[in-house]
Amino acid sequence: MVTGPGTAPGERIPFARTEICGEAVDAVTKVLTSGWLTSGPQVAAFEEEFSRWVGTEHAVAVSSCTAALELSLRSLHLRAGSPVLVPTITFCGAVNAILHAGLRPVLVDADPDTLMPDAQTTARAVARGGSPAAMVALHYAGHPAPVEETASAAGLGLDRVVEDAAHAAGTVAGGRPVGALSAATCFSFYATKNLAIGEGGMVTTGLAEVADYVRRCRLHGISRDAWRRHGPGSSWGYSVDYAGLKANMTDVQAAIGRAQLQRFPETQARRGAIVARYDRGLAEIPGLQRPARPEHGGHAWHLYVVQVLPEFGVSRDELFTKLGEQGIDCSVHFIPNHQQPYLRKLLGEGVDPARFPAAEAVSRRIVSLPLYPALRDDQVDRVCQAIADVARGGRSGRPGNRQRSTSANGAGSVRVRKDPVR
Ligand SMILES: *Cc1c(COP(=O)(O)O)cnc(C)c1O
Repeated sequence: MVTGPGTAPGERIPFARTEICGEAVDAVTKVLTSGWLTSGPQVAAFEEEFSRWVGTEHAVAVSSCTAALELSLRSLHLRAGSPVLVPTITFCGAVNAILHAGLRPVLVDADPDTLMPDAQTTARAVARGGSPAAMVALHYAGHPAPVEETASAAGLGLDRVVEDAAHAAGTVAGGRPVGALSAATCFSFYATKNLAIGEGGMVTTGLAEVADYVRRCRLHGISRDAWRRHGPGSSWGYSVDYAGLKANMTDVQAAIGRAQLQRFPETQARRGAIVARYDRGLAEIPGLQRPARPEHGGHAWHLYVVQVLPEFGVSRDELFTKLGEQGIDCSVHFIPNHQQPYLRKLLGEGVDPARFPAAEAVSRRIVSLPLYPALRDDQVDRVCQAIADVARGGRSGRPGNRQRSTSANGAGSVRVRKDPVR
């Protein structure tokens, strides 16, 4: 292998690296000198381009995916305290959005391969928690979620589903990009996401009333934002119709987003190439389960999540530490929410670990490997080699160090597909 500059064994491989393209840098300079920095013509253009890209009628830009989720849930006008299904394996912000919308989260266990709720785990959560008023569906890692099956298992129409598409820019489901199926789909442009601005979010919907509500409530509930009051051909009047949030996107962010969207096919292609390289590099390592492939649709590959099984020879935690010692940073997506102290206080028996056998088991197995367009082939190879070395070290000698069976907490019922790569 050719070792170029910066490929020394000691070079650190960060878990994530935000890349903003040159066109975005130029566009930001223009906005900064234009005299209009907050939500204005750049936001309007980004919304127009994003809705066309997703193939949906409306797109409303907001400050984050978390705000997008809260505003989308509020737009459904559910009774205060109504139960809302949400995966236990998700980012805490998605659960917080339910609480901030005045609703009650009901956590749902995962399928151990896709790491997302399926019809069975959803039906179990409904049997225990009662009929939900709505559901937040997550396209975990960029893998399309079984939205229709889980909604039907929950007895909900798609107009009561909000999709968390924080990982799903570029995910394809039912032959089309994610973003036009349910009441509202919420995207994230956070720094580590596959369509990055730094911070930002978007709600896409085919429902005019949802779009209208989110558009008002992202900016205090005011009927017409500043651009519409003070932009060309506008008038100054407005009314406040709701106690909204302050969650608008600025023109600076939108200018970055527009340029990043132009370049998105290219960065996604690079992600696909890295994934194929990981697949090859990790295929021969016993006890290392590679990510599940969608049976239908397309994966956006926001994350590459492997599972460390007992046959690997050392535990996930030990692998994580060993990789860190070699300068390879990984992550875990996510610590299940039912393990979080504030939800344990809030939800009582709704966080009983016995309700989440698969999440309990996989939360001790999952590792997210570095995955971003700037990751070089030789760095991917180094990650694969380091994992193979840790596995070999774990299997040779040191039997006392072997990972114990993960069957505590009822996880013995978890089925593990031998070769998840189809
Ligand atoms: C990142 C993330 C969010 C929150 O996105 P922000 O734009 O940072 O608010 C929500 N859900 C999931 C699953 C995420 O990974």
